[in-house]
Amino acid sequence: MTDDGEGGLLAAVEDLDAHRAAGGGVAVERARTVGPEATIAEIRAAGLRGRGGAGFPTAIKWSGVRGESGERYVVCNGAEGEPGTFKDRAILRANPYQVIDGVVIAALAVGASAAYVAVKAAFRPEIDRLETALAEMADAGMTGDLPIAVVTGPDDYLFGEEKALLEVVAGRDPKPTLYPPYVSGLFGTPTSPNPTVVNNVETLAHVPSILREGAEWFRSRGTEDSPGTMVFTVSGDVRRERVVELGLGTPLSWLVYGVGEGLEAGRRPKAILSGVSNAPLTAADLDTPLEFGALQRAGAGLGSGGFIVYDDTTCLLEAGAVLGGFLAAESCGQCPPCSLGTAALAERFDVLHEGAGDTGTVEELAAWTQRVTDANRCGLGAAGRDLAAGIVERFWDDVAGHLDGSCPGHRGLTVPKLVDHDGDRFTRSEAAG
Ligand code: SF4
Repeated sequence: MTDDGEGGLLAAVEDLDAHRAAGGGVAVERARTVGPEATIAEIRAAGLRGRGGAGFPTAIKWSGVRGESGERYVVCNGAEGEPGTFKDRAILRANPYQVIDGVVIAALAVGASAAYVAVKAAFRPEIDRLETALAEMADAGMTGDLPIAVVTGPDDYLFGEEKALLEVVAGRDPKPTLYPPYVSGLFGTPTSPNPTVVNNVETLAHVPSILREGAEWFRSRGTEDSPGTMVFTVSGDVRRERVVELGLGTPLSWLVYGVGEGLEAGRRPKAILSGVSNAPLTAADLDTPLEFGALQRAGAGLGSGGFIVYDDTTCLLEAGAVLGGFLAAESCGQCPPCSLGTAALAERFDVLHEGAGDTGTVEELAAWTQRVTDANRCGLGAAGRDLAAGIVERFWDDVAGHLDGSCPGHRGLTVPKLVDHDGDRFTRSEAAG
């Protein structure tokens, strides 16, 4: 892992003394002194947007929950599960103290009575770091009277979906409910709500430095649309797989050729995926700035900043079969458009990639990309649709190649579930799907 030479969220902090020496705790004191309204105003002025995928303005989320009645909670989403993303675990490993400072500030801002940090039970190094940091900070009085608990959950992709996350914190399975966290909230119902703020690990890690250094400082990097920095992951067919903090707006080409040090000799990037929830980008998109708006305009999305590079030996139908199959397997089955659609799309990709398809299969594939609606409880169904539609639209040559026998071949792709990092490469989950 690395930062980009200017310090920040990935700077390693050994213990509470080191955290304090680097200014830790100052922002919490400032939040106590200036009060909730001024705290939220500073976050609003900074233009902080959520770093978990949606890019929703943090200040709007906080002020919305603060304005609601009922018991209020803050939940930190550390259930990172997007294939090709390792940033939240990198942040927690480097400095869990800054994340806890962010949790305390969020709780002060919205008037929360308790907070939770939800992580996968498999994230053992991160849990150890969090629990040690929490104990040190509580002993030192840095969390005040706010109870903060670490909640562990399953490996399911859906655990990272905010409504499913609250279900896990409440002791249930990770199945998204109908209502967003600010409506029914944690341990609540629509008629007896407990409005809850759910923020991603990285989002909360940015908060203390904004309070300490000010909104202008935060805006000195990034763009008008997407202020500040973001922690990116680059993996796949690059020489070096890395986690890096960059100013938003940095070109995608820098992530691939600067941070990732390019591809093996003779190879070119063919597709670049920002996780499995967006249409793939192509080599023609390499100049795209890494920011929310620009990536949306490119027909993809910033996602959680995890970029998977596939070189020109890759058949995108194979990627569609593997990644689409992952989404189909992770669908919880509550919404027919999602459960039927993701399975149908993955199956058509599989049939075509195995060479058993024909133009009828292609027509069915294209038809299913139109059939999966947004009328689902969460974004998984639409993610499968957008991934499939992007492959069909942008990599038509690969589709045609399976009809005329000119396919680039079979690479034995697997879902890039990243579990550790050794400096140059990630280790991946043993699971193929
Ligand atoms: Fe489950 Fe899919 Fe519905 Fe999400 S969209 S709740 S994953 S069935």
